[in-house]
Amino acid sequence: MAKILVIEDNPANMKLCCLLLSNAGHEALCAMDAEAGLTMARTALPDLVLMDIQLPGMDGLAATALLKQDPTTAAMPVIALTAMAMKDDQKKSEVAGCDAYIAKPLRYQELYAAIDKLLAAKKPAVAQSDLPTP
Ligand code: MN
Repeated sequence: MAKILVIEDNPANMKLCCLLLSNAGHEALCAMDAEAGLTMARTALPDLVLMDIQLPGMDGLAATALLKQDPTTAAMPVIALTAMAMKDDQKKSEVAGCDAYIAKPLRYQELYAAIDKLLAAKKPAVAQSDLPTP
């Protein structure tokens, strides 16, 4: 249904995430760090990004800020994933430009709901640009 980029350094979380996405009919693209994820976002142009906040090297907040500054990737919705369910984290993820926030451990209903909401919000713009000009 949608092409979704997962940027996550923990192999178990990555596996779970990709399994949940493919079960929902989505195509999962995987990147293990922010640098690889940014490159993939620019080249594969996914419909949505699932961004782990705690990554080695550049963290997910910095990577999201870069995505949102780049016109090529700015419109991609980003869902922040974090192990720490702290209010401070949610605020920081909003400041960085994340469109939604999910605390780990991942619950599939919550993940699917967040993805569906953001993809639905994106649709009108895509549909309009697809309309033939009168
Ligand atoms: Mn991590």
